Amino acid sequence: MALPVSCGLIPTTQAAVAKRLLPPIDVDYAKEGLVVSPRANWTTMVPRPWRMREAGGFDRITVHHTAGEVPVQPLAEPKVIEALNSILQDHWQRQYGDIGYHFLLDRAGRIWECRSLVYEGAHVVDQNERNIGVVLLGNYEIQEPTGEQVGSLMKLLGLLRRTFDIKLHRIYGHRDLGQSLCPGRRLYPLIEQLKS
Ligand SMILES: [Zn+2]
Repeated sequence: MALPVSCGLIPTTQAAVAKRLLPPIDVDYAKEGLVVSPRANWTTMVPRPWRMREAGGFDRITVHHTAGEVPVQPLAEPKVIEALNSILQDHWQRQYGDIGYHFLLDRAGRIWECRSLVYEGAHVVDQNERNIGVVLLGNYEIQEPTGEQVGSLMKLLGLLRRTFDIKLHRIYGHRDLGQSLCPGRRLYPLIEQLKS
């Protein structure tokens, strides 16, 4: 059976859910020269904590692509916000507590905060525990990630690794952990390269 190109997410289990909205975890993005656009910049939807687990720390990171459409040019911010909202709508309808990923990187290299790091993500079947979800906007079965995107990804991964003490070999592509081609054959080698 051919593996799907799409990310192919499923909801997290509803056991051991967070009972209330939790205060955010402070990550010093500016120290790394990173600008991370806060979740409030692109949505007013209030997360449903009862559908999320409290994360309690992280020891691995998984990289994804959004797949689907292939925008050739880097998107202007309003278009990225549209894309973020369409992912959120999809995940909301699947009864997730919030968008499933923790970060999205667009093709201009902008970083967008998604689900708060206070909560476990919903991005790999049965592998969300202590696992930060980072998604790159684009279809990397077909297109190449941009230099800006790769630069931002490397900086973000470095910062997250230092913040949560995550070992280099604990950075994965979705395909390492689940039945998917995600994050695509033009992005996945970068992750392997990073680890070697
Ligand atoms: Zn994925």
